[in-house]
Amino acid sequence: MTSSRTPRSLTRKPPERLFARLLDSLADTYALVLDDDLRITYANVSFLKHFGLKWEKIIGRPCQDLGTPFLGTDALKLGFCPEELSPWYPARTLMTREAQDKVHVYECTLNHLEGRRGAAWTLWSLRDVTDRFRLESRVRQMDELERNLVQASMDGIIVNDMLGNVLIFNDGAGKILGYTPEEAIGKIKVYKFYPNNTAREIKRLIYDPAHGGAGILENYETQARHKDGSLVPIWLSARLLHEDGREVGIVGYFRDLRERRRLETELLRSERLATLGKMVAHISHEIKNPLITIGGFAAQLGRLPDLPEDARRRLNLIHQEVQRLEKFLTDMSAFTRGAPPQKTVGDLPALIREVAELMDSGFKERAVVFHLHAQKRIPPFAFDCGQIRQVLINLFKNALEAMPEGGDLTVSATVQDDDLVLKITDTGHGIPPEQLHNLFTPFFTTKPGGTGLGLIICRGLIAQHQGEITIESVVDRGTTCTIRLPIVSA
Ligand code: ADP
Ligand code: MG
Repeated sequence: MTSSRTPRSLTRKPPERLFARLLDSLADTYALVLDDDLRITYANVSFLKHFGLKWEKIIGRPCQDLGTPFLGTDALKLGFCPEELSPWYPARTLMTREAQDKVHVYECTLNHLEGRRGAAWTLWSLRDVTDRFRLESRVRQMDELERNLVQASMDGIIVNDMLGNVLIFNDGAGKILGYTPEEAIGKIKVYKFYPNNTAREIKRLIYDPAHGGAGILENYETQARHKDGSLVPIWLSARLLHEDGREVGIVGYFRDLRERRRLETELLRSERLATLGKMVAHISHEIKNPLITIGGFAAQLGRLPDLPEDARRRLNLIHQEVQRLEKFLTDMSAFTRGAPPQKTVGDLPALIREVAELMDSGFKERAVVFHLHAQKRIPPFAFDCGQIRQVLINLFKNALEAMPEGGDLTVSATVQDDDLVLKITDTGHGIPPEQLHNLFTPFFTTKPGGTGLGLIICRGLIAQHQGEITIESVVDRGTTCTIRLPIVSA
């Protein structure tokens, strides 16, 4: 009678057969249903099969009676169930069990279900998660030699389990990605080291036989994400790790491509310069002779008596412009010719002083004060005096041109390791950051009458001495040009 008044939805309970069928359909979950007294009222098919038990033997038995011993996290021997199951028993625990000399790890979940008339049921389900922990224990067992091999690798090496937990993260990986192994291992999921969907794509390619074979990915060019958020181009090889035929993890080896990219750009540039050089040589040759004729005649005509003043002025202008063009051509061929240096042992500070004297009138004109700080004992070394003079002139000129209102031009010469380090610092207007990477591009200039060849000539000449030239600058503060020359004793 009462039931007819209760809404149907409340009285409806899943038919018991259906409930049993549902539990039986869970292939990877071993489920046990216990009543109020912790007696077994149901065990699903997977459970019986996995633990090798017969239904008739366990039905109605207290679950503690089941023989299979488990070990709790505190190494306590447990039965299937602890003596007492109460709502405050942890809902999810890990237990281990030894069978056939193998340790299995299970994740156990408890669900308390209120039944009708206050009867309580407990659903006790276990999942075998041994695979997840197998690789980890293998990693723990790695011997010192293996550890050292991984550590010493220049490549980045990361090993992760199938859930993406990082188990190995060597120093090489640290250098490329910016994390310490302590920050990465067990704390960061491996996909975090890649932008957006890259990790998923990598995983797909590992399984795709077209990329080095199934389970292998060879030399794949992609990007990793550095701790600071920047993207690093890398070369990645990866392999699936198996144990007993099961996939347990992935090992990735990767190499930083930044240096390689830089060299490629450099090579491209030097190729371009070489082509440019040939063109310039050809053009100069074609232009120079007529230019000399034009300039020569203009000068001659300009000296004629009885010339109207206006004509003389224009002829002078022709002569001056022709001279400017000639100088431009000389500059161009200087940087493209690249004559091998004629090195002799010389006194570099003396050369610096000489160039400063040469330009003294220019310094005075612009109220620029010159300072030289040379380290006391600079070992004599061999360099091409003419070429280094050219470098100094170009750099001093740039410094002067950056200080129209005056300032300081400071040159320091020190020995660091096996290099002579020259720093040429001005207090001029500086270079905006977006222009810094253009400085060594031929014809890049911000000056109305500039050729944009001064710095590239310097770089060519310094390179001929196996040296390096770099420029740092802060707008409105000034610019420092650093030259490193290897000291090769003659
Ligand atoms: P140019 O002097 O003919 O312009 P360079 O190759 O010597 O050619 O220099 C290229 C450009 O680099 C200059 O136009 C200028 O913008 C910048 N630059 C070089 N040296 C300095 C400096 N000391 N201070 C500020 N800007 C500089
Ligand atoms: Mg210049």
